[in-house]
Amino acid sequence: MQEQAALYFERLFEKDDELERVLDVMRQQGMPEISVAPGYGRLLTLLVRLKQPRRVLEIGALGGYSGICLLRGMPADGILTSLEIREDFAQIARSNIAMAGYAARSEMIVGPAAESLARLVQEGRQFDFFFIDADKENYPHYLAQAIALASPGAVVAADNTLLGGRTLNADKNGPSVQAMREFNRLIAQHPRLMGAHLPAYDGLALAIVK
Ligand code: SAH
Ligand code: MG
Repeated sequence: MQEQAALYFERLFEKDDELERVLDVMRQQGMPEISVAPGYGRLLTLLVRLKQPRRVLEIGALGGYSGICLLRGMPADGILTSLEIREDFAQIARSNIAMAGYAARSEMIVGPAAESLARLVQEGRQFDFFFIDADKENYPHYLAQAIALASPGAVVAADNTLLGGRTLNADKNGPSVQAMREFNRLIAQHPRLMGAHLPAYDGLALAIVK
């Protein structure tokens, strides 16, 4: 039912040539097909358009698909900072973001996100919108760092909260699953957050930093 519903809604939208091209490039490069679901890509654009953040931080760039979705909604002076551990992926994301016309508004920081985040905190940087979508074991840590880097009222979005169903499966207790359960609990209960969970696709968490 969920997949049929996603397909039903997907067909209502006009073809997105720019994002299709990004996915083509990624396929040609043999990259994993784990870009954010198209429906959540549109939601990210919409949320950013509502929030009008000047500084957006994305953790996990892959091929730049979600980066382009975020940039599409941002104000003309908005800058997207993307953290990516793999130099080859960062290069492809950079190129795809440039092709979409956003080269001047994209900053790519290559390296383990935990280290990049520590540096951003040290530098006293602040962000108005976060998209967490990198290695799942570190989600609770990335959330803590996002709160540390958040301007008042900043928005946090995070992808893959269901881990393909493993989050719900009591027999699955690997490090990613345990971290995601903790992360999901924090979204619901953290005193600094007002959160919500969307169970469509692979699950998306949303929160506002109080
Ligand atoms: N946000 C992207 C998809 C990201 S997939 C989109 O929807 O278009 C997850 C990405 O996180 C991969 O590119 C992977 O290389 C990166 N990643 C994994 N571990 C990381 C780490 N420790 N630090 C930074 N990036 C990491
Ligand atoms: Mg994802």
